Amino acid sequence: MDTSAVNTSSVTVVGLGPMGRAMAGAYLDAGYRVTVWNRTASRADELVARGAVRADTVEQALAANEVVVLSLTDYAAMYAILEPAAAALEGRVLVNLSSDTPERAREGAAWAAKHGARHLTGGVQTPPSGIGTKEFDTFYSGPRDLFEQYEDVLRVITGTDYRGEDPGLAALYYQLQMDLFWTALTAWLHTLAVANANGISASAIRPLATEVLGGMGQFIDFYTPRIEAGEHVGDVERISMAVASLEHVVHTTRDSGVDPALPVAVLEAFRQGAAAGHEEDSLTWLIEVFGRRAAA
Ligand code: NDP
Repeated sequence: MDTSAVNTSSVTVVGLGPMGRAMAGAYLDAGYRVTVWNRTASRADELVARGAVRADTVEQALAANEVVVLSLTDYAAMYAILEPAAAALEGRVLVNLSSDTPERAREGAAWAAKHGARHLTGGVQTPPSGIGTKEFDTFYSGPRDLFEQYEDVLRVITGTDYRGEDPGLAALYYQLQMDLFWTALTAWLHTLAVANANGISASAIRPLATEVLGGMGQFIDFYTPRIEAGEHVGDVERISMAVASLEHVVHTTRDSGVDPALPVAVLEAFRQGAAAGHEEDSLTWLIEVFGRRAAA
């Protein structure tokens, strides 16, 4: 294979899960010369048929292009792949779109620097269907000059949302988003289990679910200034009311033959808020409950 091209109209993509395949495809669509490598080589077949170059080794994949997009399960996969080829990292720009913790992103950036590579952390905010569009953004963090130098290349994948120099920041914002995503979506799935147990279908509950979850923005808008002012005044709702309400949810769940562990966990947090003397305060006081429980 020809490894002579070192410029920004060509990229290497390492990791060809659903996300990496979509990214490599977006670069091909944008007219880039794309080199790909994946542990399971057959996942590159369709991309090769569309014009991508399959690198035979990780070293070749790194040598082919200055910009190397990593789309791996986590940072451990990056070390598994790149550690044995570390001598080929000198001068590369690693755009690491593998999700992991902020601390692992910081360690990864330091590890890359030790081998002469520069590192941008990325946190992609869309499934594969949104790759190659500008409808969604990817969080980035790392050296600002590096981000600005390669922003046009990054914008082939999605829109960009630069969060700062600390390599952990993009991973942090990604995890904050995932915290909301998993807990909110699991709440919906739990509600569906209770609905189904009572003969109510997913489509029958759909208007209610979209209205309740879609309306969360107004609660966030209402409470945010109060939280920032340190006010947890129980003038529109109180923790004691939430405890009673959640007990009804837990009993309804149990009576429906559904595992109540999820609402029980929420109820326990509210009960601890009440036990700490905050029955008359707002539900926002739970921020303190969560923080104090971790510190205990
Ligand atoms: P997958 O886990 O399906 O694929 C990741 C890739 O990692 C595969 O190419 C796989 O290789 C490789 N890999 C994993 N472990 C190793 C290892 N030990 N050694 C070598 N290669 C390894 O992930 P996705 O493509 O779905 O996602 C990629 C990243 O993007 C993840 O971090 C994910 O959290 C994040 N993300 C995913 C979204 C989604 O909707 N899928 C949305 C937003 C972010 P092989 O093919 O050989 O198994």
